Amino acid sequence: MPRPIQATIHHESLRHNLARVRGFAQDARVWAVVKANAYGHGIERVFDALRAADGFALLDLAEAERVRALGWRGPILLLEGVFEARDLELCSRLGLWHAVHCDAQIDMLAAHKTQVGHRVFLKMNSGMNRLGFTAERFRSAWTRLDALPQVEEISLMTHFSDADGPKGVAAQMALFEHAAQDLPGERSVANSAATLRHADQPAVRGDWVRPGIAVYGSAPDHPAFDAAHWGLEPAMTLASRLISVQDLVPGDTVGYGSSFVADAALRIGVVACGYADGYPRHAGTGTPVLVDGVRTRLVGRVSMDMVTVDLTPVPQAQIGSEVTLWGRAASGAVLPVDLVAQAAGTVGYELMCALAQRVPVVVDGAA
Ligand SMILES: *Cc1c(COP(=O)(O)O)cnc(C)c1O
Repeated sequence: MPRPIQATIHHESLRHNLARVRGFAQDARVWAVVKANAYGHGIERVFDALRAADGFALLDLAEAERVRALGWRGPILLLEGVFEARDLELCSRLGLWHAVHCDAQIDMLAAHKTQVGHRVFLKMNSGMNRLGFTAERFRSAWTRLDALPQVEEISLMTHFSDADGPKGVAAQMALFEHAAQDLPGERSVANSAATLRHADQPAVRGDWVRPGIAVYGSAPDHPAFDAAHWGLEPAMTLASRLISVQDLVPGDTVGYGSSFVADAALRIGVVACGYADGYPRHAGTGTPVLVDGVRTRLVGRVSMDMVTVDLTPVPQAQIGSEVTLWGRAASGAVLPVDLVAQAAGTVGYELMCALAQRVPVVVDGAA
């Protein structure tokens, strides 16, 4: 029998979340962001469930090829644009739309020999200070692009640094709108957080929204709000089973470093899941976990292949009992990935993306 750990990708939840996000941005088109192998879910595994998107946005050219290989003929957007000149050949061949965020990318386009006009998303740096032209240089970049025979259509984009927090999007939005004033072209500014929290403003909805994390059922602004608040469902479950049970007496310790000391008699379960499966090593004693659908806590350190859990709330638990590390238990109980991430000092994004290669993945609810 294989080791009992398994991840499950829930198609119904992906469909539900996509529809839910669309509901926040009525009459905008939706890029389903599938970078980082669909946030660890697997592009091939999520594709059918996300076909209702208007396009797929990603970074990696190899991932764009995979989406085309799945038969997708609609829009694909390279969020960081091309990395070298010959990437443009693939854009021409596969009809990829691409961000243009720096002069070097315009130079490459100007030198590119192509029969097909390119659709580009000119990116403005409105305060994130990673990619894009500053407000002052945005117009001249647009003018340069507009003069290129290689360019068929120019859309405008920017990216928010604080859509999930109290600072919000107002200042960046104002800068973008001012710089883009009377420039023609479609607009795309909103990630998940902006879509959920600020898309009541038509300028934030724009023509295209770019949700990633919300599609996968994690709240972009946790812990201010949780996934249930936004009506999102987990698209990924990480589950395993108990492979051992130990009865501790007061003074007994658990795991490496003896970091947990039992102060009373305690029944603990040993779970076939560790950091080599992608479970965060920084999740300490107290991190939530479900055993037979009942919420309990980790005790002691996460090791490479195992974690240990307190069985006090689940006295009937035994070897083979179901353990939900995050996602949905057989009973229907849900453990949001965001709670596990919070306990480990990180975000749901990182846990999903870090799901290890060795974990077998099944798809639930494929059409
Ligand atoms: C990753 C990314 C998104 C999606 O962000 P989420 O927070 O996952 O919704 C949107 N736009 C750009 C440019 C990105 O890189």
